[in-house]
Amino acid sequence: MPEHVNTMVIEPIPNLPDEVNEIRRKAAEIVTELVIPNEEALGGPASAERDALEDEISSVVRERGLYAPHLPKEYGGMGIGFLAHAYMNEVLAWSFYSNRLFGVKAPTSGNQKVLVKYGTPEQKKKFLEPTIYEGQTACYSMTEPDNAGSDPRSIQTSAVLDGDEWVINGRKWYTSNSKHASWALVMCRTEEEGEDGVVNDKMTQIIVPTDTPGFKIERAVPVFGSEAQAHGEITYTNVRVPRENQLGERGQGHEAAQERLGAGRVYHCMNCVGQMWRAFDLMVKRASERKVHGGLLSEKQFTQGAIADSYIDIQAARLMTLRCAEVIESGADPRTQISAIKVFVPQAMHRVIDRAIQVHGALGVSGDTPLWRYYQKARTMRIEDGPDEVHKILVAKNIQKSYAAGHGWDFGTL
Ligand SMILES: Cc1cc2nc3c(=O)[nH]c(=O)nc-3n(C[C@H](O)[C@H](O)[C@H](O)COP(=O)(O)OP(=O)(O)OC[C@H]3O[C@@H](n4cnc5c(N)ncnc54)[C@H](O)[C@@H]3O)c2cc1C
Repeated sequence: MPEHVNTMVIEPIPNLPDEVNEIRRKAAEIVTELVIPNEEALGGPASAERDALEDEISSVVRERGLYAPHLPKEYGGMGIGFLAHAYMNEVLAWSFYSNRLFGVKAPTSGNQKVLVKYGTPEQKKKFLEPTIYEGQTACYSMTEPDNAGSDPRSIQTSAVLDGDEWVINGRKWYTSNSKHASWALVMCRTEEEGEDGVVNDKMTQIIVPTDTPGFKIERAVPVFGSEAQAHGEITYTNVRVPRENQLGERGQGHEAAQERLGAGRVYHCMNCVGQMWRAFDLMVKRASERKVHGGLLSEKQFTQGAIADSYIDIQAARLMTLRCAEVIESGADPRTQISAIKVFVPQAMHRVIDRAIQVHGALGVSGDTPLWRYYQKARTMRIEDGPDEVHKILVAKNIQKSYAAGHGWDFGTL
């Protein structure tokens, strides 16, 4: 790989607090000096050498106070706010491997946040703390092969109380990381008719240790031909767990899930921004070195178009995502902004990576740059965490509701 891929220009952002600029600078230093130069080894097959390398980089991350930006200090995290984490994420995302080296291992990190907020003291001790201090990981089991994931009310996996135990039956798929996980957070239908004839609320999240009898991974669903991410298809057959494994209130599963997924979407979008930024950097530098038809690629107007369009896509995606993070931090209802970025940012990423690949020619689809990986990520991002269409519907409904109530839409505040 050419030398220039290791450089990353991160200057202080005016109007940001000094500590956030300092976090970005220090994160960029580690990503540039330790993560990017080791990408080949970090992306290679599991081995004792790879584990040792990961431990070594993670210990530098810890020493410099940058570990687990998503967790509060009492759980060994950085205890920084949502916006600061968003600003840090665009830097981390320059490398596909940074997040896990910085202690943010999706989907475990999402589960950790939910447990910090909704877990009982016992659940925190039994399930959350081992993921922080003992290297355990977890998975999130919501989507089902036989029902539309874009309509979460269609979930059929059932949990029924039998004395002091929940008994779970159903089939899930795309439960990422299931092969390595110690426990799964499972979305279950717990709808039941009470003695008074009233049907109670519908969905509840339940923690299931993956060694519970009846929990069976049938296969890893390959994505673009690879099983590396261990997206498990899982059957739950009379899986029994204690009633106290229920997370939060019975019937409130969707609310907690939306909160988790909402925050996750902002992190995902900032990851997309960082990945686009790296692809842009590779594209501009490649164009300035590669000679075609008697001149540099960078002198050709097609290439200039690719660079300009990509700048526009990245800047628009970045500002929209930061605006969304600001709305979340302010405590206002962020649902419209979250859905809007979930549609726009992965599509923008798709366009930017596509252009970067084209400018690189065959090198762009080879394994010698990270572009192939980003391209796949951009495509799956348009489906995971809700496909484009459902988010567009939500944006339109919220706007129409505001108009129906006589408020119009104020782009200055919304
Ligand atoms: C890489 C990856 C990782 C994932 N990880 C996890 C995980 O860890 N845990 C988990 O539980 N799930 C996970 N998922 C599942 C993901 O959240 C679902 O795939 C997603 O919610 C869409 O559900 P579905 O695949 O069932 O699509 P469907 O609901 O079957 O929708 C199919 C298509 O229909 C269209 N569509 C849907 N609704 C409408 C509408 N109202 N109008 C018009 N068109 C519409 C959309 O184009 C959509 O893509 C993952 C998925 C991927 C790809």
